[in-house]
Amino acid sequence: MDHEEFRRQGHLVVDWIADYRARVADLPVMSPVEPGAVRAQLPPTPPEQPEAFAAVLADLDRIVLPGLSHWQHPRFFGFFPANGSLASVLGDVLSTGLGALGLSWQSSPALTEVEEVVTDWVRQMVALPEEFSGVIQDTASTSTLVALLCARERASGYSLARGGLQGEGAPLVVYASAHAHSSVDKAALLAGFGRDNLRRVATDARHAMRPDALAEAIAADLAAGRRPCAVVATTGTTTTTALDPIADIAAVARQAGVWLHVDAAMAGSAMILPECRWMWQGIEGADSLVLNAHKWLGAAFDCSLYYVRDPEHLVRVMSTNPSYLQSAVDSRVKNLRDWGIPLGRRFRALKLWCLIREAGVAGLQARLRRDLANAAWLAAEVAATEPWRVLAPVPLQTVCVRHEPAGLAGEALDRHTLAWVDRVNRSGDAYVTPAMLGGRWMVRLSVGAIPTEREHVADLWRVIQDAAAQTAEGRGRA
Ligand SMILES: *Cc1c(COP(=O)(O)O)cnc(C)c1O
Repeated sequence: MDHEEFRRQGHLVVDWIADYRARVADLPVMSPVEPGAVRAQLPPTPPEQPEAFAAVLADLDRIVLPGLSHWQHPRFFGFFPANGSLASVLGDVLSTGLGALGLSWQSSPALTEVEEVVTDWVRQMVALPEEFSGVIQDTASTSTLVALLCARERASGYSLARGGLQGEGAPLVVYASAHAHSSVDKAALLAGFGRDNLRRVATDARHAMRPDALAEAIAADLAAGRRPCAVVATTGTTTTTALDPIADIAAVARQAGVWLHVDAAMAGSAMILPECRWMWQGIEGADSLVLNAHKWLGAAFDCSLYYVRDPEHLVRVMSTNPSYLQSAVDSRVKNLRDWGIPLGRRFRALKLWCLIREAGVAGLQARLRRDLANAAWLAAEVAATEPWRVLAPVPLQTVCVRHEPAGLAGEALDRHTLAWVDRVNRSGDAYVTPAMLGGRWMVRLSVGAIPTEREHVADLWRVIQDAAAQTAEGRGRA
């Protein structure tokens, strides 16, 4: 493809994306395809001869689009809002179009320096103290893995320079609540702690970690000759957006000399609102934290912001310094390969730069406030309607609900819940995610896709009431 052909096709692609976003509300939110249906329409072998680019776009419409669930649909209430801002999409296109790679500062100086500036912009937007430095990782899973590697190396006095964890006398222990994200378990396992050394700290009625239970667990491990190493607290858990009490947990962690990592992957975006910052009060006591700008804030995936208080420690853990990557300016610049796992880095900062400049902080704040108000409205409607229940506090934009008809409990209630959810999702009218809470199924209604306005939330409320009523009726007749 030469430049002129790129210009022609590129305009078509931009038009295609704009048309898609304009008409997405008319498509079924959840893809109706059966497993294997997309693959069956694709040639199993690669084309021997060149094809016209138009053929690719045609197949995008014909084969790919029906096989997608639409995250940018105004009635998408599944998982979490993500990836939405079109300004950020343009930043992503620019990044890819530049084709630059950051291996060292010198390999693309602006790639590093724009990233330094925009991560510091976000630091200011969420009111983190100045001593925190940020870097963009791909996902929260990676950020949390990096955090636990840093915790491991601090607790072990840089065991990686000796025999590694295998040379340590006492096992190192990681603490998180039962509501921590699965990526925390994964990070702990990959960082070599082992399942036996991952503690589930008890939670309270609001599903938040109990600092007293954390202190007890740490004391028990110390008494048994183990080494408490890291606690991962969550601001905004995945199931219910529960808020672990950061200040109290930080106090326990400081006392025990344990690393504190805060997973604010979802809720971190809300910290651009001064009225939400009580939710992570005490955050200045963290050693590291993660905030996914590619979720509610609107940046195009992938854009996970990882902040640390001691970048020198991070670099010491992550650094490799082969001769072919050294340069004369190394003492004066950041080499972001030493701030995470991969060597090669994309110019991710551009999509965040575009997002923040196009919306302005005020624009981002206004959108998040709209979503908070919509979620509060929905929670109030549900709470005021029999036999519906709101099952957890709603500090943010996720509402956990259940329809509980008289006489239904236990597994029968679970069957009812999963049946009406299936009815909603198959209808294509809205998309919601069921999840387990306290051993029973319930439904998460996650508000905050960029095109979602109050009318769409009202539509959702009607759709789920109809689905639940029809499900109950169907069972009555059976
Ligand atoms: C989404 C989420 C994650 C995982 O994020 P990835 O970026 O997909 O790895 C982890 N923790 C919390 C609280 C989340 O909301």
